[in-house]
Amino acid sequence: MTTAAKAPIRAYSGIQPSGAPHLGNDLGAIRNYVALQERYESIYCIVDYHALTSVHDGDRLRRQTREMAAALIALGLDPNKCTLFVQSHRPEVLELAWILMTVTPVSWVERTPTYKEKKLTQPDDVNHGLLTYPILQAADILLPKASVVPVGKDQAAHLELSREIARAFNHKFGETFPEPQAVFTEAPVVLGTDGEKKMSKSINNTIDILSDAETIKKQVMSAVTDVKRPLKSDPGHPEACNVCQLHKLVNPDYKELWESERNATTGCADLKRALAERLTAHYAPARERYQELLAVPHEIDSILGDGAQRLLPLVTETMHEVRERVGLA
Ligand code: ADP
Repeated sequence: MTTAAKAPIRAYSGIQPSGAPHLGNDLGAIRNYVALQERYESIYCIVDYHALTSVHDGDRLRRQTREMAAALIALGLDPNKCTLFVQSHRPEVLELAWILMTVTPVSWVERTPTYKEKKLTQPDDVNHGLLTYPILQAADILLPKASVVPVGKDQAAHLELSREIARAFNHKFGETFPEPQAVFTEAPVVLGTDGEKKMSKSINNTIDILSDAETIKKQVMSAVTDVKRPLKSDPGHPEACNVCQLHKLVNPDYKELWESERNATTGCADLKRALAERLTAHYAPARERYQELLAVPHEIDSILGDGAQRLLPLVTETMHEVRERVGLA
């Protein structure tokens, strides 16, 4: 690893293996994973234990885990600059999660917004994992003693909880864990094609950046635009239009487009076509690399195996310290 010249700060983030990433994942989190691997010792994890709270299909989980690994590498993670691994390949995290559960009041996890949301989105499967999810997430971050966590804004409450759990442990057993800080990109919340809710796989409002041009076009053309502009001849309101906002995030020439919206030279459909074209072109090299990697699954497995192996000394050291402090060793 080329960690020698990096600042002595450790970054960690986890992502669920729930299919290839969408535009929100990339702009809100993955971009920062890629940037931080240049500056800090960086550890990225495909969190398959977390995914078990929603996916109960072994073949699907295995496939999606590889797909996420391929996608992250295609989008810029370099296994020579960061450590990429699968959560279940370092099961020590489960032991730490259990220990952290014993210092976490039930009321802290019951109040997390994602638990409340999941109770609504999967009402027939409110399993216990959904409740303890944020404690496992705290264990993910604290196991490698990470202090910087690149995530989207939707994860802010979980990060706050991880900090509280670190504080609770340190208070009871002595200074052990750093309190992790969330770091956000310039797009901490990317709205979906509905223009209302956060872009998310669990809602049908994503733009799937690693899909083919046709799919991207279809998704972008379905996007809600400027609701205050019923006719093409009416002046547009770029600040209130989600498609204009997406242009701002991915298009250096967005100002010209905004202007032509304002003076009604272009219509919403023109704007969407331009966005679809831009996204297709921008992500073309990543899409190609993604397909190449999927064709060599043993290479993906080897990168992931190597990542888990590389973490062993660090994880062993943390767990030795933790066991000693709590009285298990
Ligand atoms: P999803 O919500 O689609 O299931 P994940 O929960 O796997 O996605 O999120 C992976 C990472 O991407 C997290 O850091 C999350 O905060 C970030 N992220 C997800 N959706 C968005 C979004 N719409 N805008 C900004 N960041 C996002």
